[in-house]
Amino acid sequence: MSAPNPAILNHAGALYIGGEFSEPLGAGVIPVMEAATGTVLAHAAAAGPEDVERAVEAAARALPDWSRSSPDQRAAFLDLLAKGIRDRTEEFAEAITREVGTPIRHSRSIQVGNPIAITANTGEVLRSYPFEETIGNCLVVKEPVGVVAAITPWNYPLQQVMAKVAAALAAGSTVVLKASEVAPLTALMLAEVAHASGLPGGVLNILVGEGQVAGEALVRHPLVDKISFTGSTRAGRRISELAAARITPVTMELGGKSASLALEDADVATAAKFAVYNSFLNSGQTCTALTRLLVPRSAQAQAVEVAVATARKLAPGDPLDEATRLGPLASAAQLERVRGSIRQGLAEGASLVLGGLEPPPGLEAGYYVQPTIFTDVRPKMAIAQEEIFGPVLVVIGYDSEDEAVEIANGTPYGLAAAIWSADRGRAIEFARRLRAGSVEVNGGAFSTSAPFGGVRESGHGREFGRYGIEEFLVTKSLQL
Ligand code: NAD
Repeated sequence: MSAPNPAILNHAGALYIGGEFSEPLGAGVIPVMEAATGTVLAHAAAAGPEDVERAVEAAARALPDWSRSSPDQRAAFLDLLAKGIRDRTEEFAEAITREVGTPIRHSRSIQVGNPIAITANTGEVLRSYPFEETIGNCLVVKEPVGVVAAITPWNYPLQQVMAKVAAALAAGSTVVLKASEVAPLTALMLAEVAHASGLPGGVLNILVGEGQVAGEALVRHPLVDKISFTGSTRAGRRISELAAARITPVTMELGGKSASLALEDADVATAAKFAVYNSFLNSGQTCTALTRLLVPRSAQAQAVEVAVATARKLAPGDPLDEATRLGPLASAAQLERVRGSIRQGLAEGASLVLGGLEPPPGLEAGYYVQPTIFTDVRPKMAIAQEEIFGPVLVVIGYDSEDEAVEIANGTPYGLAAAIWSADRGRAIEFARRLRAGSVEVNGGAFSTSAPFGGVRESGHGREFGRYGIEEFLVTKSLQL
């Protein structure tokens, strides 16, 4: 494997507080692993409570000026951030490919392309956003919520950061970001971009550290006015409990176990192909992954055949290779978790039709897992209920469309779903019956400007565009 571009490691061990790069006051460091080799790529800082204190104070100091800046001034900074990321696309993509394992082509187009689009679109929306309206005798004004604590995961590390940072800055709020300790490199590279853009010190502060240390210190901090969290439902529950002590408002973007439902009149082969490409994207480490394929029982054998043939074309390989479409998982912990789920599926009696526990031949060193498909899966089995976060697809047969809707809605989650039908009108009608924050109709594309988020244990609140900005605003009525 080639040596990393030194530009992705420039500030790997630093924190960005008050407009300056600094060493953490705490002594700890966190090894950042290269997903494809399982070797140490960098050492990240482990921010401690004192670092959180410095960062929150810097954000609070920067708030009065930033919150009074004009939307046009803030939009200009968002344009600079989008441009700064775009100019360094290759470096951002390499960093994500190394630390997450995403195939380099997907890193460029999705992992870096989406955050650029999100940032640019947020700037555009901001320029015409109505911060004031008149209702009766009142002037209703939207004001920045204040100091924002943003906490993000590792699977789309830059996208999840920019979904929060762009929207919060647009609203006129200031931010302390606690980036994922598993994939922190792009957050520090973003700090370089922000620094070069001339963003005033303290408006955006970036920390790396353990969730239970830096994350919890941030969530508990009395100067934090809003928490925006993306990550597991487990951590989201804990953060919600901590936030409740001070009634701090929270936005929660959590896990999922999304269903792709082929109705009786659907082209099952297309739905099966789509399910494989969608659920194996980023090695299944995508919160919206459509990991349950629901098909009429009469079409189950065909769906499995097509899914297996499609998945066989996705041979795992070196994610830095331009031809690779399926890379390793991000970490040893993730590998163990995914293998545990596969073991559980076998123990529950599901039929394994592709993949399994063994690493792909010749790829024993990194965090690789074979593309895996189960059929004869009953809806209440753990592999049909719990988020696996690996390239594992389950195929479930149904006897009636009403039963299919029940199965699709029958997990604690509600992040995404997909529906397939020869009749678009019917597809939309069924899409309305699915309890999910977004539903892809006949393969409709993911949008980085429409509202994104979940219901039930997938969370609450929305990101992207106008809806994203509004998460960081509060409404005040001036009675005239
Ligand atoms: P995680 O919950 O383990 O960690 C996410 C972030 O929270 C990390 O920065 C971590 O350090 C921090 N954290 C953990 N415990 C904390 C605590 N007690 N207090 C404060 N901070 C804490 O999740 P992960 O493994 O990094 O990411 C994978 C999960 O994220 C999956 O469940 C996935 O579905 C979810 N996810 C959701 C979305 C969405 O938009 N809905 C998007 C991507 C990922």
